[in-house]
Amino acid sequence: MIITKNEDELREFLNTSLSKGMSLGLVPTMGALHDGHLHLISNCHADNDVVVVSIFINPLQFNEKSDFDRYPSDLAKDIDKLKGTGCDCLYTPDPEEFYPELPKVHIAFGELEQRLEGKYRPGHFRGVGLVVAKLFHQLTPTRAYFGLKDLQQFVLIKQMAHDLSFPVQIIGVETVRDHSGLAMSSRNQRLSDKGRNTACQISRGLALARKDIEKQRNPVLVLKAIKDYYQNTKDLEIEYCELVNAKTLEPIETYSDVSTVALCVAGYIEGVRLIDNLYLQLD
Ligand code: AMP
Repeated sequence: MIITKNEDELREFLNTSLSKGMSLGLVPTMGALHDGHLHLISNCHADNDVVVVSIFINPLQFNEKSDFDRYPSDLAKDIDKLKGTGCDCLYTPDPEEFYPELPKVHIAFGELEQRLEGKYRPGHFRGVGLVVAKLFHQLTPTRAYFGLKDLQQFVLIKQMAHDLSFPVQIIGVETVRDHSGLAMSSRNQRLSDKGRNTACQISRGLALARKDIEKQRNPVLVLKAIKDYYQNTKDLEIEYCELVNAKTLEPIETYSDVSTVALCVAGYIEGVRLIDNLYLQLD
């Protein structure tokens, strides 16, 4: 595995490693790698000849400076975790080199960025769009891998690749959870043991709602039941909980004409913001 911060070095690696017809897979991350990231890399390795993982804590996607300042980072540990995963190149650009000046061009997602996360994190997805678009230009990957845990991010990036004709296939990978059901997240590191116990109620609530959604129970009643469950969970403060069409992210009122639904939730525990969702294909 080669490790580089530098765009020219990255290009040189790509020029020497990729011969005609070979595929390149990209897994963009912000580091503090966990099993969720490793699952993306393993999917990427299975599908592609060459694998690049990027680690870049993108300042433009944080809408609160304190969240950016506290974001966990341990490159030595990440490098260790990448050994044996099939990662051929780790790209860790410096913010000053990646953004020599504040970009003047924005990538806006219209109404898609007004929903769910976008409603509570203004500007977040524009920052995500910019970093991913730049990475796509720098690497021109054949495939890029994104976790369905960040469902809205996956949907928006897919839309961006389609609308701007990026010649890349966007692959969504299912959410990896720990033994308690808690979705793996770099932010989990900031929780106490008690906080982690509370946090696993988020996925428990989603699991309880699964049967109701599979039976296509009225969305209003599904939402009422899960919101009541969360309200009765001490030390959990829910920011939103919505049942949406997983393709358009629009809240659903009925299940007709909907092939995939997602029950999306965001909440705070010990001041740490966590998100999760239940992503379901309907029969
Ligand atoms: P991050 O480092 O948090 O920006 O995440 C990098 C990528 O890993 C994103 O595409 C996330 O959706 C994905 N990811 C994060 N957590 C998980 C998880 N628990 N399971 C699967 N993918 C994940």
